[in-house]
Amino acid sequence: MNVLKFGGTSVGSVVNMNHVKEIISDGDRKIVVLSAMSGTTNALIDISETLKTGRTSDAVHHIKTLRNTYVERVNDLLRDEHLRAEVVDYVQNVFNGLVEHIRQPYSQQTHNNIVACGELLSTYMFSRFLQQEGINAELLPALEFMRIDVTKEPDNFYIKQNLESLINTLPEADIYITQGFICLDSIGNITNLQRGGSDYTATIIGAAIEAEEVQIWTDIDGFHNNDPRFVNETTALSYLSYDEAAELAYFGAKILHPQTVMPVRQLDIPLRLNNTMQPDAHGTLITNQIHGDGIKAIAAKDGITAIKIKSVRMLLAHGFLKKVFEVFERYETPIDMITTSEIAVSLTIDDTTNLEAITNELWQFATVEIDNDMSIICLVGNQIMHHQDTPQLFQVLKDVNVRMIAYGGSNNNISLLVNTSDKLDSLQKLQHYVFEGEVEFV
Ligand code: ADP
Ligand code: ASP
Ligand code: MG
Repeated sequence: MNVLKFGGTSVGSVVNMNHVKEIISDGDRKIVVLSAMSGTTNALIDISETLKTGRTSDAVHHIKTLRNTYVERVNDLLRDEHLRAEVVDYVQNVFNGLVEHIRQPYSQQTHNNIVACGELLSTYMFSRFLQQEGINAELLPALEFMRIDVTKEPDNFYIKQNLESLINTLPEADIYITQGFICLDSIGNITNLQRGGSDYTATIIGAAIEAEEVQIWTDIDGFHNNDPRFVNETTALSYLSYDEAAELAYFGAKILHPQTVMPVRQLDIPLRLNNTMQPDAHGTLITNQIHGDGIKAIAAKDGITAIKIKSVRMLLAHGFLKKVFEVFERYETPIDMITTSEIAVSLTIDDTTNLEAITNELWQFATVEIDNDMSIICLVGNQIMHHQDTPQLFQVLKDVNVRMIAYGGSNNNISLLVNTSDKLDSLQKLQHYVFEGEVEFV
């Protein structure tokens, strides 16, 4: 069985839902993972924020506006009167539930419950749409099998067991529809896999059922060699290895949630990226095969904080690095990049929740400097250390203030830390040099 995930744009209009219907109606049995319709999760987050800040009448207004959009969409999507009435009823219930939150004290749980509604709505609408079209589909409620553990990792054993037994208890179907993104936490409360998490849902399910393939259907023709939101003339890559894709996703390529690759890499399940609007385009196939040498793609991750930690002694004393890392470990804060000199270590983090506590501890044995609003630019490819393009990269970026460089950590990655204000310029310059052969060294 294959797992096919469709993102927000793919389920964001009646026209696109029809595309999805065509793609999934090939007669093969499959699990289909859906995101919320595009814009919905952002709208729900706004509603949650409005409630959090006590702006009740604004919250009611936002809820009503979103509800009206949904009722209109249901009317456009469903001709069948019974199904339409049933889905409108469902939509009203979901939005009444949102209004109920106004009367309750606000908490993180309120937020999690609110943002879960997008996927509940899209899957319910789409499953009834398939029913109208005479397609044999069943809804698989994600909250009955998708769970994360105390460390926020997927609880794979629980997921596999519950998913299998759910499928066995439902009537036999060609297509099982489930919600991406949402899940339960270790004590059974609703939570989620973070923004863009439907991709991760798809590969977690793919691993649980040992799928032949996991397909991520989105609004672009595959993984591009640079970020198409910021750079002109990017092109789709036909092949990537798991390691390359994982690295790019981790360092900001929005097309994949950062954790997506891990579950399929472990079981060697091919991961394919396709365009819902151009289903015949090749897309990108991600496997353990490595194709070609040199820089294959570039990604950038914003919201990075750089921390320079200088030993109070002149030389890096024995045990200094250990002490530094222990502080970050205590606060469960992952480090992305690291470079050292004789007297200092520079590193980057993107989770600043505990930054104040971390710096307070570091100050006990070192001096600390902090730079915010930084971006990591990550260049990925096979054997890039030895490739002819690599030595010239610093020439290409000679006018950019490169704050840190990680080179040599692996054979397939070079990371550069720049001010976020220099990111666009850097990405475009690298694009010209690496992929378009335009070199202007003066
Ligand atoms: P979905 O809603 O289908 O999950 P996303 O918006 O999450 O879609 O991801 C697809 C978008 O990711 C593309 O439209 C594109 O703007 C953006 N993107 C960023 N980096 C890349 C990249 N390297 N290749 C392709 N798309 C990228
Ligand atoms: N709807 C969620 C989001 O917007 C999850 C996803 O689209 O993958 O982040
Ligand atoms: Mg996405």
